Parts: sequence; C-alpha cells; structure tokens
Amino acid sequence: MTKGQFPIGKLNNIQTPFYYYDSELLRETLRVINNEAKKHEGFCVHYAIKANANPKILRIIREAGLGADCVSGGEIEACIKTGFPSSKIVYAGVGKSDWEINLGLDNDIFCFNVESIPELEVINQLAAAKGKVARVAFRLNPNVGAHTHANITTGLAENKFGIDMHDMLRVIEEASVMTNVKVVGLHFHIGSQILDMGDFEALCNRVNELQLELERHRIVVEHINVGGGLGIDYQHPNRVPIPDFKLYFDTYAKKLKLRPGQTLHFELGRSVVAQCGTLFTRTLYIKKGKIKQFCIVDAGFTDLIRPALYQAYHKIENISSDEPAETYDVVGPICESTDVFAKQIDLNCCHRGDLLAIRSAGAYGEIMASQYNCRRLPQGHMSDEI
Ligand SMILES: *Cc1c(COP(=O)(O)O)cnc(C)c1O
Repeated sequence: MTKGQFPIGKLNNIQTPFYYYDSELLRETLRVINNEAKKHEGFCVHYAIKANANPKILRIIREAGLGADCVSGGEIEACIKTGFPSSKIVYAGVGKSDWEINLGLDNDIFCFNVESIPELEVINQLAAAKGKVARVAFRLNPNVGAHTHANITTGLAENKFGIDMHDMLRVIEEASVMTNVKVVGLHFHIGSQILDMGDFEALCNRVNELQLELERHRIVVEHINVGGGLGIDYQHPNRVPIPDFKLYFDTYAKKLKLRPGQTLHFELGRSVVAQCGTLFTRTLYIKKGKIKQFCIVDAGFTDLIRPALYQAYHKIENISSDEPAETYDVVGPICESTDVFAKQIDLNCCHRGDLLAIRSAGAYGEIMASQYNCRRLPQGHMSDEI
C-alpha cells in the first residue's frame, strides 16, 4: 500500500473530514490534456464546472487555458469570478430560468446548449429584449447508450436530456425564422464514467450520420460539441492517476469527420479532477457486531454522496496503520442506512484516531456536500498550501 505520497504529519493537524487536492497531479493532468488535444486541429477542451467548483481548483484549470462548461447561473458566476473568458463558456441544462439566460446573454457567452423548442423561444425573446443575438447549439439526444451506471447515462431516448435527433432539421428550421438566435453548433453528451471507447465511437458514427443529413440540406454548423464522460480508474488511483486522454482524443480524431474549419468541443469533468482529490476522515469507533465489525468514521454521505447515490466504489486506505489487515464495513455517522462508504473491505487494523483516505474523490465530491443533520461542510485544502 502506498502511503508515502501523503504528508501525514501536516494532514494530522487539519480538522476532519476534509478534502485534500494534489495540485501537482491536477497540473500534470491538465498538461497531458493540453498536449494530447493540441495534436488535433480544432479541438477545444472545456472543463465541466459541476464536477468540482472549488475556487482554487477552478483557478488552476483556468490558468491551464481550458474553457468552461456550465449547467447553472451559479456556475456561470463562478467562472466569471475565476476569470474564465466568456468567449469560452458554454451553458447546458434542461431547465434554464430567465435570470440564468439573462446572465449568459449579459456576458456574451460562447454558446447556449438548447434542450427544447420552448427554451429556444424564451432565449430568443430575452435576447430580443436586450437587442442581442444569442449563439445556440442544439443538444441532440443521439440514442446512444453508455455502458455505465443507469443513473449516469444521459443519451438514451428515455432520458430527459436533449432534443430527439429525428427533430434536428425541424428545430434548425424553427430557429432560422427567429431573429435573435443563431444556430452555431450541435451538442451531445451521452453519460459519465465511460471507459469503453466503443461508446464514444458509437457517438461519432451518429454525429457523422447527422452531419450528412445536414449537408443534404446545405447546412454546416461552426462546431460540434461531444460533451464529456471519460471515466477514471477508481480501483487503481496510484497505478492510473491520469486517464488515457491520448486514446480518448485519438478516438474522436479517427472516427468523427469534421468539416473544414469546424471545431470539436469537449466538456470533461470527472477525468480532469477525480484522481487529484482525497477525502480524509478520522476513525471514531470500532464497533464489533455479531457478524461483522464496523469502522465508524467522522465523514458521512453529506461529505461524499457517491457511494450512497450510485453504489460507487472508492478505494479506502488507513494511512495511520501498518498492522495486519482486518475486514470492516466503513460507515458514517448520519442517521440513514445508506451512509456506508464500503462493505467488507480490508484495511490495516483500525483504531480510534486513525486517518482514512477515501481516494479518487475529486469529482462530484466536495461540490455535492450537504448540511443534512446540520453538519458542517467539508473544507478543501490544496497540497501546495498546507
Ligand atoms: C456532467 C456533464 C459533463 C461532464 O461529465 P463528466 O462525466 O464529468 O466528464 C459534460 N457535459 C454535460 C452537458 C454534462 O451534463
């Protein structure tokens, strides 16, 4: 077990539970993303803010030059505050309220990813009231399944997201008679934690078909946006700290046929930030039941909800102990039976006070924290600032 990577002395002085972010790993991940993306002409990478909006994380990502992908007005505000150029902000979501659309218009964002005709009509009206023309892309539902957890597939006909791809020409037609919107792209996003490149290839094939159909009607859009979804290795955070961005971008370069001058946009969330984050929690009690023993820790699903929400696996290590392993259920203090981080896992023998590392928690961790049970929100600390 690798424990040397964590500065245990320093970590022991911080109030638990807390998130710890390895800034060096985040910067290295961003270097790899930029290096691999720039090998392909027209590739533009946005960071999906919803994965982690910690201001320090956002600053590092902005410094690396990525654009931003927002799904709410609050996220647009967070981006503007961090200094992301508004010309690199895209905004998706099935339920954009008027103030959120107005915020996007006031900031002249790159593009609204529109998910329905009623939404398009409202954007057109609000843009008209400001004497502006909103740049829009249609989020199409490609009916491509992703081989991932059912709660995080988004590209199937049964999901609430996007516009049925068969309606593509009709919605573009409708938009063409509106004076205050301009259709500049097509947008897709099929799901999250996708590790099978075949799923992305299926999306590429679908995009190619749709582009041919557009061409038959002499329509060429400025850009294609294929969303995010690249997965990470939750089993092996040490062995695979950086996802295979080369394979990911090469897959799109090989399979998706861009038209001359067209740009290809990506919205990566999890794959950018997941591996740099660890949730540290302290062991409160070891409770021996009749058939199992529980390691009761001071973090709960209010700090990291993924195991409770998606039955997600996170590798857990006891970084305070080298004693022989024993088997535990690792559980939190919250009054819900789902407040369990792991069942029947082996940890070096745990004692009260031991610090446990819950790995690969940089994405959909801190940002999903809640105050249920009037708990305090966990704080995030950067490795180069503690
Ligand atoms: C959540 C989301 C993303 C990011 O997904 P990851 O799996 O974290 O890469 C990208 N685009 C849209 C529209 C999303 O909703």
